Amino acid sequence: MARRLGIMGGTFDPIHMGHLVTAEQARVDVGLDEVVFVPAGAPWQKSGGRAVSAGEHRYLMTVLATAANPFFSVSRIEIDRGGPTYTVETLRSLRASLTDTELFFITGADAILNILTWKDAGEAVDLASFVAATRPGYDLAALEEHDLTRQVTLLDVPALAISSSDVRARFEAGRPVRYLIPREVEEFARKHGLYGTHGQGLAAADVGVS
Ligand code: ATP
Ligand code: MG
Repeated sequence: MARRLGIMGGTFDPIHMGHLVTAEQARVDVGLDEVVFVPAGAPWQKSGGRAVSAGEHRYLMTVLATAANPFFSVSRIEIDRGGPTYTVETLRSLRASLTDTELFFITGADAILNILTWKDAGEAVDLASFVAATRPGYDLAALEEHDLTRQVTLLDVPALAISSSDVRARFEAGRPVRYLIPREVEEFARKHGLYGTHGQGLAAADVGVS
């Protein structure tokens, strides 16, 4: 029987409990053998706003957050490719390199709406099945307006109103992030002075690394 592989794409700047709960719920409800997290290289959707954290930092935070789950792994495919990330390219190369594997692309309710309006949406849904998770603040009912809706599996996820943007804002304002992101991710972000964290934990300059 073909292996069923979940793909959780994202910027993961930083990875948070909403991502982890969504991936775990998809694994069990969709019956996936494994979920691979794919941190984006240089996400084109976000290139107009604030600078996204270094790919290597986002990759390592994703590894820290997923290491204890035997069904989770992290791929460097988009980080190593460099340049803007197009999910359809990633699906193409995974499809070409993995034999006897069925692909399931997992997204939240906001991301699925973007994906279905891409020019390559038709090809994307041929390469992978799409799984759209509920996310507080976004309405999956809007999906019904799209022709591709029937190719999308809807997934009910325990509601976590957590976003990376809010986590970054909390770091910057000195408000708590504990229980919103894994402890290891919080410590990593402080150690490397991500998100305006300073004066808490080791500063990179103190230990001679960047
Ligand atoms: P940002 O605020 O920077 O956009 P984010 O929290 O939306 O960050 P992303 O890396 O953009 O995180 O999201 C990666 C994927 O995870 C997307 O498919 C997104 O819809 C989904 N996702 C993010 N947070 C949640 C959540 N709390 N519940 C369900 N799905 C989520
Ligand atoms: Mg987002």
